[in-house]
Amino acid sequence: MKTLKFAVLPGDGIGPEVMDVAIDILQAAGQRFGFALEYETADIGGIAIDHHGEAFPESTKAVCDTADAILFGSVGGPKWESLPPKEQPERAALLPIRKAYSLYANVRPGLLYGELTDASPLKTERIPEGIDIVCIRELTGGIYFGQPKATTTLENGESQAVDTMVYKTSEIERIAQVAIDTARSRGGRVCSVDKANVLETSVLWRKVVTEYFAKHAPEIELSHMYVDNAAMQLARDPNQFDVLFTENMFGDILSDEMGVICGSLGMLASASLGATNNQLGHPYGLYEPSGGTAPDIAGLGIANPCAQILSAALMLRYSFGEEEAAQAIEKAVRDTVTGGVRTGDIAFGLDTVDTKTMGAAVLRSL
Ligand code: NAD
Repeated sequence: MKTLKFAVLPGDGIGPEVMDVAIDILQAAGQRFGFALEYETADIGGIAIDHHGEAFPESTKAVCDTADAILFGSVGGPKWESLPPKEQPERAALLPIRKAYSLYANVRPGLLYGELTDASPLKTERIPEGIDIVCIRELTGGIYFGQPKATTTLENGESQAVDTMVYKTSEIERIAQVAIDTARSRGGRVCSVDKANVLETSVLWRKVVTEYFAKHAPEIELSHMYVDNAAMQLARDPNQFDVLFTENMFGDILSDEMGVICGSLGMLASASLGATNNQLGHPYGLYEPSGGTAPDIAGLGIANPCAQILSAALMLRYSFGEEEAAQAIEKAVRDTVTGGVRTGDIAFGLDTVDTKTMGAAVLRSL
């Protein structure tokens, strides 16, 4: 029997609560589709600071090093907000883990089921069938990582800060390939988002993307859009997009906007794929909900576990090649949520749910 070996990093806040549910679903999927789970749990984020003095300790890295994928919860919370910015869980855990495993491709499905259009802040007539798009965001380059990055004091005593936005051809080409692969599995359209009217990095981005698509994927319909327009178009008519494809900072902002129009952070999963393959020949990846640790509801047992469950499904798809099991989990979540909404049994999304009840309902649907 095939064994799936992964690291489990629940993190802080609602992380451990929703992670428990996701593991139950994975176990059930394994029984149905014939695979075994071998996972090790380790501290990350605030809890790792408390236990080990740092957000991404060596002991956690060692667990991730021997795994084929990472199932991640979320990190951070009020308890650690007074730490210096560099030591705070998000910055000291998430950015190093992305770097450590070259997690350069963030794949974020923006999905709102047609039955649930009321959950979106957009008018239902704009999204009669719901929303179904994917955002592909470059994750290890651009302004978040470019050097120099510093604050200095000028001769006249005032402060000056600089961040550097930098991209090279190879970084753009490898993420372009992810956009192509994604479009091939969906509607065959990619909209590349940049700011080529003012940024040098965007001029290069547009040139490299255009040439790469022409050479490697002439069948994919490629368009380009400035980021300010893309932000407007997402709010106006999201389904004009199939695959939204962009660099790190633009993707950070646009994917959050996409999350909002899809109605609920509690439903949105994400995959961050690495540059190297795991022992099974699939991309090493980190899989996590799009939301954070939800300190306002942590410990109450009312967090929506669907984003974590759907992240586990993405792990099955990308890092373990278990497409059938991934689709079965996605269908079980859909049936549970839409069925619950129809019968009024299960409150949806950010309106909070009973975490365990919802997990049990997904299990029954699987
Ligand atoms: P958040 O996503 O944690 O919460 C925003 C709102 O959404 C809250 O009202 C919360 O209750 C709700 N929410 C989020 N997920 C939910 C779920 N599964 N079910 C029901 N409701 C849910 O964002 P925030 O409040 O800005 O951040 C809280 C903490 O999380 C901060 O410390 C932040 O740094 C951290 N954070 C971590 C990550 C990550 O680990 N990748 C991402 C974002 C924020």
